[in-house]
Amino acid sequence: MSGGAGASIADDRPGDKALRVLSPAQDEAMESGAMRILLTNDDGILAPGLIALYRELVKLGEVTIVAPTTPQSAVGHAISVSQPLFMQEIQVAEGVRGHSVDGRPADCVKVAVLELMKSAPPDLVVSGINHGENVGINVLYSGTVAAAVEGAFYGLPAVAFSLTFAERMDFQGAARMARTILEQVAAPERRAGLLLSVNFPDLSKGPPRGVRVCSMGVQPTEEAMIRRLDPRGRPYYWMTGGYIPTGEPHPESDQTALADGYTTVTPLRFDLTDRERLPRITAWRISAE
Ligand code: MN
Repeated sequence: MSGGAGASIADDRPGDKALRVLSPAQDEAMESGAMRILLTNDDGILAPGLIALYRELVKLGEVTIVAPTTPQSAVGHAISVSQPLFMQEIQVAEGVRGHSVDGRPADCVKVAVLELMKSAPPDLVVSGINHGENVGINVLYSGTVAAAVEGAFYGLPAVAFSLTFAERMDFQGAARMARTILEQVAAPERRAGLLLSVNFPDLSKGPPRGVRVCSMGVQPTEEAMIRRLDPRGRPYYWMTGGYIPTGEPHPESDQTALADGYTTVTPLRFDLTDRERLPRITAWRISAE
């Protein structure tokens, strides 16, 4: 958090840093129903999925675009600690302006919340629409999802949207559905603590069969390293695959539902603690002398 001037009474509450950005102004906006939306992605500020989503989100409120200058897919929750974050206001599309950041998706959310929007923080962080699905363990590699999680770190409601990779990707159609979903899940009485990842099926095969609220698949994916030689004879490795789960995916997972043509909605949390195992490991009375 920069500058002492922005410090609020929340500073008196130890360990409550995330709440600092939830200002009285934000509470007011929540009550009035007008939404301030922060829009980001991991495919870069000029990605068609972001622009399509912007054109729908403006029907819900005031949208601020802060997105990476260059594509950042699969950077996960990386942040820039040793590089400056240059931010530039640019024309994103006809009549659309946005802030382009030379950083990672999570950096974009940080600089938006801590600087650009610090006097009036967003009511909702939206990330996407990603060029490709984010289901199964890919959720953990995804920069799109990481940006939403970053919003959740600040106590802000956040939703990530991804569209299944296909030859022809209907971002406009997906964006319309994203707005319909947000009208329901981001209603003022529902949005507190919201952290969702939403995936749309391949829309070129027809409209989704419905919406499934489901859990994240946890199977490893089929992947391999291809070994080649560079012009100087040095070996290098190139990852391939990484999207198809090995074995039969769990029937109730996001992977299965998406492959079956459903839109998936997965509630996420960033507390990685294994709560089931916690008491057992406590009982081990591990010493470190
Ligand atoms: Mn991406």
